[in-house]
Amino acid sequence: MSSPIILFGIELAAELNAATAARAAALPFTPTLATVLVGDDPGSAKYVAMKQRRCAQYGLGSRHVRLASDTSTAELIAVLIDLGADPDVHGILLQHPLPPQIDERAAYDAIPLRKDVDGTSSAAFAAAALGQPGHRSCTPAGIVRLLDHYRVELAGADVVIVGRSAILGKPLAAMLTARDATVTVCHSRTRDLATHTSRAEILVAAAGRPGLITAAMVRSGAVVVDAGFTPGDVSEEAAEVARAASPVPGGVGPMTIAMLLAQTVDAAQAVVGSR
Ligand code: NAP
Repeated sequence: MSSPIILFGIELAAELNAATAARAAALPFTPTLATVLVGDDPGSAKYVAMKQRRCAQYGLGSRHVRLASDTSTAELIAVLIDLGADPDVHGILLQHPLPPQIDERAAYDAIPLRKDVDGTSSAAFAAAALGQPGHRSCTPAGIVRLLDHYRVELAGADVVIVGRSAILGKPLAAMLTARDATVTVCHSRTRDLATHTSRAEILVAAAGRPGLITAAMVRSGAVVVDAGFTPGDVSEEAAEVARAASPVPGGVGPMTIAMLLAQTVDAAQAVVGSR
């Protein structure tokens, strides 16, 4: 069998970032992303720092708010409301995961829709599900963009998503359904996962379980997208069975940040448009 086509998110993200930088430079002010980090999880701190570096690299401003790990929901919401009212902030990202005492849904829903450039609020989810305009959850939006770029036909395709989180599996299912795919969402309680995955024309692994998807679970000639972080949810042998596969790293990850920056500039452009 011939080698699979590699879905190079890293290359597409570079193109998208260049377009985002040009759009940012054309604005009469610096489009600015505020990041909010609660607690001191080193992984989360690293992701937030990377997002800030990318902002600087492509001509966006960034503002960072770091809150103590014992911050209450009310305190966090107050910060988000302040950022929501700040005219110099165009996008707000609340870094996931949040400490257990925080009412996560209430916090995300305190971000005004026009500044929810990470697409995590209930309103953004509803807009995606209903096919209405608005910012999309970045990782699923990046996956759809990647599939479109490589001209993977979505209409009528049999798609299986492994994972149903609010930031990834669920919004991706909504977006792909809006694009006329037939979507099955699997999760930790799914009986006989392989039965589902092995009939997928497009398989998206978003479980955060390294090596979960083995070769026997992939239909020959399928398109396989691995949303997991290194080393990825899809085993090397499984990717070989595919017609096309996204690498880890260099696949979905760069697309997520590219979508975040693009949507921050969209939000800033909307401010200019509303003046
Ligand atoms: P999450 O909130 O932990 O959700 C994981 C999902 O996978 C849950 O729905 C869970 O089922 C399901 N699952 C776990 N083990 C499973 C198994 N053995 N079989 C079937 N389903 C299983 O994770 P997430 O935030 O969505 O992230 C998923 C992955 O994507 C992680 O590797 C994460 O690091 C990665 N990610 C990457 C990016 C990026 O930019 N590249 C961005 C975000 C996330 P239940 O619902 O039943 O618990």
